[in-house]
This record gives sequence, structure tokens and C-alpha cells, in this order.
Amino acid sequence: MQELEEMWQKVLTKMQNFVSAITFDLWIAKLEPIEIKDDETLILWAPSTLAKNQILKNNINQLTECIHEVFGEYIHFEILDKDEKEKYLASTKPAEELAKPAIIADRAQFNPKYTFNNFVVGKSNQFCYAAAHAVAENPGTKFNPLFIYSGVGLGKTHLMHAIGNYLTEFSPNLNIKFVTCEKFMNEYIESLGVTEGGKEKAVFEFREKYRNVDVLMIDDIQFIANKNATKEEFFHTFNDLYQNNKQIIITSDRSPSEIDVEDRLKTRFSCGLIQDMQIPDFETRMAILKKKAQIERFYLDDEVLNFIAEKPFTNIREMEGALSKVFFFATLMGKKTANMDDAREAFKEDIIEKQERITPENIINIVCEYFGITQNEITGKKKSKEIVEPRMIAIYLIDDLLDIPLVTIGKIFGGRDHTTIMHSRDKIGDQIKKDNKMSAIINDLKSKIGKNN
Ligand code: ADP
Ligand code: MG
Repeated sequence: MQELEEMWQKVLTKMQNFVSAITFDLWIAKLEPIEIKDDETLILWAPSTLAKNQILKNNINQLTECIHEVFGEYIHFEILDKDEKEKYLASTKPAEELAKPAIIADRAQFNPKYTFNNFVVGKSNQFCYAAAHAVAENPGTKFNPLFIYSGVGLGKTHLMHAIGNYLTEFSPNLNIKFVTCEKFMNEYIESLGVTEGGKEKAVFEFREKYRNVDVLMIDDIQFIANKNATKEEFFHTFNDLYQNNKQIIITSDRSPSEIDVEDRLKTRFSCGLIQDMQIPDFETRMAILKKKAQIERFYLDDEVLNFIAEKPFTNIREMEGALSKVFFFATLMGKKTANMDDAREAFKEDIIEKQERITPENIINIVCEYFGITQNEITGKKKSKEIVEPRMIAIYLIDDLLDIPLVTIGKIFGGRDHTTIMHSRDKIGDQIKKDNKMSAIINDLKSKIGKNN
């Protein structure tokens, strides 16, 4: 088990990369860790009020980053000066009850709000939920690997963290590692880049970290496509863990057959259980909004929740964003509860903002660039699949994001009839519901459109 002092040394080593030697010696090196309070707050002591204020003023971001890297993303910290430390120690419990950092480090990888309790179960996700729960109860025995896939923002990361939160609570002796595919990749590449004789050690340490676990969770595995060295490394990590009956949990925004990896990796994924989630129906969306409002202490009329749940969100994160926005709007107006007037106002502003910034032309540009076709092709008469699908997608997006008549959209697309436009829109709308790949494409494009404006 790692001691607090040992972990703190790691934070210091990292901090040395961020600050000047003088700052380090004068302020940072003099901080001392006292304990981790209530499993969530690292209490640090600074020898003077000046030291405390200097750090809070100049180094707070770097310190936060280093602490998160070593202790986990969900650990907070507090710096006490001399007086505060004395008061703190007088009011706190005896030393032997102090928290055990190794376990904390495991727990702090997981968002405490992403629990099974906070996950609303409906038709769209009941099998995934059941599988995740079964794995949390009996890791490494049933469903190994567990492969969860769905469109963006439908609860994959939430479920993965729920397994993590459950395991750290009920099986605290297990060594659990959560990592995004991107981080796994970056760390591996970094270890390969180490030179001057340290490379073997760096790769060895990387392997130790990911193969020496009881449960490995990799979030968003689709990013591994085209990364050959990382794919190879992951394949061996996978085999190693699998042969030793260690639990592997993977999420992806598309099914194994749709990810660009070799067949041998696809075969590995299908040894266990592959389970998908769909877009939740109205009742489930309503229940999710209620839960979220309750967790965040948002007070909203049921009518408002209904109004938001009725909108055809394909991404729960965006739906939650709409909820926060309405509540925020009401708070700005000095109210404690949001009603329908606030909701209408909040959305009205949204529509006007969008209309001002986004035009059919820039949607068309972004779609053309995404699929590597020209504007003449997208608005022209060609009927080959490579052109027709992007055309229908552009039509869908223009209709979805902008408030303009179908007839006008028809004109933009070379004088097409409004029924043709309607057909394209509905076809893509249907596909989004059935096909995760399509909903991933639409989400990608929407975020590009949002960023470009
Ligand atoms: P993904 O990883 O699939 O992109 P996330 O797990 O990040 O999606 O979920 C996005 C947001 O939606 C999170 O805030 C999550 O808590 C919420 N969410 C998604 N599905 C549910 C659900 N069934 N119940 C409660 N919250 C949900
Ligand atoms: Mg996710």
C-alpha cells in the first residue's frame, strides 16, 4: 500500500517540471501532506500564510493537475496555514484513523455521481445495466470482457464509473484501473519515446501498470483505430489479463465490427458479452431529468421537465445541458424555481443565437470537408452512394439546426422538391435511431459546426 508521504513525493516530482527552481524550493517543497479527509480532500499544510497565498495565487492550476494525476481526478485539496493547521488538528480524529491513500487513489478515479443508483434504467439500456451490475458483483467470472457500445452521450462512461464505484466500495482489495483509450495510447507512446537507456524501463513500467491489475477499464476504445503500435500493445495487455481471469471492461461508440481493428482483436472482444444501448424513450428521458434535477438541486416545474424531455435529444449530455441552461436562466432572473416562461426564454435565446451564427453554407462546407466531396457534388445531381449519403446528412443537419422552410432547403440543393428534402431528413432521422455509426457521425458533425461558429 502506498503511503501518503510516498504519493506526495510523486506530486512534488511532477511539480518540478512546472515551476521554477526558486518557486519550488521556496514554496512548493515546503508543503506537507497531513491526511485525506472524508476520502475526498487532501489536507496540506503550508508553513506560513504568505506561502499559502503565493501558491494559491500562482500555482493552483499546476498543483491541481499534479494532485489529480497522482491521487485521482476526484480528489480535492485544501491548504492550511499554521493557525488553521492547529485548529484542524485539534478538531480531527486520532492519527491511526487517517485514510489509506492507496484505496483513495482507486476511488478517486471515479466520478462519485456516476453510480448505479443514479443511473435510470429503461428499455434502451436495461441489458447493459444488468450486465454492468453482474460484472461489478462478480468481476472476472461472468462476461469477460464486457463490451458496451452506444452513440455519444448515452451513459457508457457513467456505467463504467458505476462499476468502479461499486467495486471500490464492496471489493476494496481489488486493484482497479480506469483509463481512456487516449490516455493509454499517450502513455504508451511516451514510454516508447524515452531515450538514453531508459526506454526499456519506461515500457516495463507501463506494462506493470496495466497488467498488474484485477480490473482494467478502457473508455472509448474506438480511438485505437489506425494506431498500430498501441493496438499491438493493447492486444498483449488484453491476453495477459484475460488468461489470468482479470476483468476487462471496454466502451466504444460503435460495435466491434464497426471499429477499425484487426479480426484477432474483434475475436477477443467477442469472447465475453457485447451489449449496446439505444436512445432512451420519452419516459426514461423524463426520469433521467428528474434524477439529474434532484442530484443537482435544480428546482423546476414538471411541465418544464416535460418540455425538455419531449425534444428529440439523441444525446443525454446535451439534454442535461438544456436542463442546466433553463435552471441557470431562472437563477439569473433571481428565481429559485424554473417555470415554463424561463424554459421558453432560455430556448428562444438558443435559437436566435444559432440562427445568427450558423448558415446553410457553412453546414454544407463542413459536411463536404468531412466526407471529402465538393460543393458542386453535394448540391448537384450525382446519385452515387458517396455523394447521396453526405447530401442527405447535410439536408438533415440544416433542417435540424436552422429554422428554414423545406422549400428553401430544396432550392439550396439545386432546386429539389420539398418532398425529396423531407424524405432525406426522415431517412437520416430514422438511421440515427437504429445505427450507432450514423448517430456518431451526426454528433461529430454537430460539434464541428458548433465549434466553427
Ligand atoms: P457516453 O460515455 O456514452 O458518451 P456518459 O456516460 O458520459 O455518455 O453520459 C452523458 C451524461 O448523461 C452523463 O451526465 C450521464 O450521467 C448521463 N446519463 C446517460 N444515461 C443516463 C441514465 N440512464 N441515467 C442517468 N444519467 C444518464
Ligand atoms: Mg464516454
